[in-house]
Amino acid sequence: STTARQSLRIGLIPADGIGKEVIPAARAAIEALGSDIPKPQFVDLVAGWETFTRTGVALPQDTVDVLRNECDCALFGSVSSPSRKVVGYSSPIVALRKELDLYANIRPVVSVSAEVGQKASVDLIVVRENTECLYVKQEQLTDGPNGKEARATRLITEHASRRIGQMAFKLANARPRKHLTIIHKSNVLSVTDGLFRETVRSVPTLPGVDGKYDGVTIAEQLVDSAVYRLFREPEIFDVMVAPNLYGDIISDAAAALVGSLGLIPSINAGDSFVMGEPVHGSAPDIEGKGIANPLASIRSAALMLRHLGYTKGADRLDTAVDQVIREGKTLTPDLKGTSTTTEVLEAVLKKI
Ligand code: ATP
Ligand code: MG
Repeated sequence: STTARQSLRIGLIPADGIGKEVIPAARAAIEALGSDIPKPQFVDLVAGWETFTRTGVALPQDTVDVLRNECDCALFGSVSSPSRKVVGYSSPIVALRKELDLYANIRPVVSVSAEVGQKASVDLIVVRENTECLYVKQEQLTDGPNGKEARATRLITEHASRRIGQMAFKLANARPRKHLTIIHKSNVLSVTDGLFRETVRSVPTLPGVDGKYDGVTIAEQLVDSAVYRLFREPEIFDVMVAPNLYGDIISDAAAALVGSLGLIPSINAGDSFVMGEPVHGSAPDIEGKGIANPLASIRSAALMLRHLGYTKGADRLDTAVDQVIREGKTLTPDLKGTSTTTEVLEAVLKKI
């Protein structure tokens, strides 16, 4: 059990660009939690584009092994992507998700202050299936009678739909509103999306659930109207669960509701590992300037701790971040402020 642990082993993979600036900030915020969590032990690990240019591999086996065998969880920064396709290079984050079976991508989107351009009343979580759907990348190009024909396979399994459904119900059940919306397009794709929808819906009837999710209300929304309603009336959503492609689109659309990418956290979660990751990329335009917003990474740390059951520590991080945003005095330029990464971190540490 996590509560009995003496220490919490956290892998740190800043990777490229501003990842190297914001992950150390997240580390400092975790260290400030004191006895709210088991004593953190950090393990520095490498991956990414820079690692690839230096060593020829984007994700060293050693990084995977240490995460798997010595860490309870990890924080990942961001990776630069080469502007053209480079032979032998593939995204380490995609590989890590696969290696550690991190099948759920979980992204809360919360508005804290209209002052920084956020639409009021957004407080939702997108739970995206992360292993299948169109992302199995089985594509074929053939010659047809009227020219080229391209096809892609879309895989939806009961197994993957069930485990993402279980994750979504668990999250919904832990929130005050306990409301789950299943996103699909089963009016058109009745076989694939039909299986997803039915499987998620059946989670409360699984053996062992024993009425645990009786309090969760279930709604469904076709993906197109879900995006529409997300912009018109985001307050109707609490937890949204979706297959991979729809989840990808919905989670970026939801992010647009709260402004800066520098605010939005995520976790990649499986049954035995969780990895926090800010939603933003390596931001080459501001790299090295010391002005990257560290709040998405600090919130990713909070989300990771929450997933592991350390609610008190997670709450303290989130509350501190919320307070700094609401006060509006110490913000980085992406939020129209003039402060540096370090100054924002200091402000958060003071609140903690
Ligand atoms: P990548 O290819 O690594 O995704 P990108 O150019 O797409 O890089 P993103 O990181 O996705 O860059 O960011 C898009 C825009 O948002 C950039 O202008 C970037 O400066 C800004 N941005 C992203 N994250 C942050 C942050 N943490 N703080 C401040 N600005 C950010
Ligand atoms: Mg990007």
